[in-house]
Amino acid sequence: MRGRGDRFEAVLGERGLDRFLVTDLTNVRYLTGFTGTNGAAICGPGVRVFLTDFRYTERAAAEVSEWEIVTVTGDWLAGIAERLAGKVGFEDDHVSVRTFSKLEEKLGESVEVVAAGGTVEGLRRVKDETELALIAEATKLADAALKQTLENAFVGKTEREVADYFEAKVRGFGGTLSFDSIVAAGPNGAQPHAEPGDRVIGRGELVVFDMGAKLDGYCSDGTRTFATGDIGDEGRKVYETVLEAQLASLDAIRPGEKGEDVDNVARKIIGDAGYGEYFGHGLGHGVGLDIHEGPRLSLRSDDVLAANEVVTVEPGIYLAGNLGVRIEDIVVVTDDGILNLSSLPKDLTFVD
Ligand code: ZN
Ligand code: ZN
Repeated sequence: MRGRGDRFEAVLGERGLDRFLVTDLTNVRYLTGFTGTNGAAICGPGVRVFLTDFRYTERAAAEVSEWEIVTVTGDWLAGIAERLAGKVGFEDDHVSVRTFSKLEEKLGESVEVVAAGGTVEGLRRVKDETELALIAEATKLADAALKQTLENAFVGKTEREVADYFEAKVRGFGGTLSFDSIVAAGPNGAQPHAEPGDRVIGRGELVVFDMGAKLDGYCSDGTRTFATGDIGDEGRKVYETVLEAQLASLDAIRPGEKGEDVDNVARKIIGDAGYGEYFGHGLGHGVGLDIHEGPRLSLRSDDVLAANEVVTVEPGIYLAGNLGVRIEDIVVVTDDGILNLSSLPKDLTFVD
């Protein structure tokens, strides 16, 4: 968390804010290092205050440095309000209307609150060395778990059993899950967000496997689609199209490129192959403390890529009632392209 308060303070200066109240716990963690479930941070010129309650005083002492730790006893919102001054940015995208109006009642006359949601999220887009190392490590861990899951075979097992096996491996390697794994075979693969179920995986099916591990709060995200035998002409054509779109859009990523334009690279290839209407989601998203964060690679994304952002690239084609294919890598934007963190092969891989 070293130096993040300073970067944040610089942003507040640009926006003419005297203080910023951070209440979203992921943003609080990002800035201060605190991992508990009740905390807030107040930042301003020369001001770094972290607030929590008595349950977390000890944890805060262990986790939070560079921020003054205040244990609020009594009224939580009053404890926050008395430390705010001047023009105060707050996270309107995370504070409920009810909490906001209660807080407002406790503010002094001279305090002006300004909706400033997304400010910390903006900082979080660009990762530092520590964050990049954790995401790379989480990706390695997830890929290793998936490799072992492949060796354990798919055919004859339910999607749930395969997902459970993978998830146990992730935990065995010392990680947690960054989201509930997706194992979707045959027609289930046509639902981009399918939940693993009791369907037994058969021969000659495509199996979409979307998975991620989490290390020290940082997520990985990756998808491969495997074949359990001959998948037929259409299956092969869909797979090759998705792969071509994925490789071309990876090639298009560099600083200064717009999220919308990178998405379009994949969308054009899939459209030209006749599957345009079957690619119904965005191409990719940022990953960090949250599994989905900025920047977005999608049709209506104004986000412009910058070095050291981490994004997924995950085109897919979903043919309802039949099959689905998605291929997803997680990459770091570098000065002149990408560093691909995903290590698993992408040519169609057969699994027993
Ligand atoms: Zn994914
Ligand atoms: Zn993803």
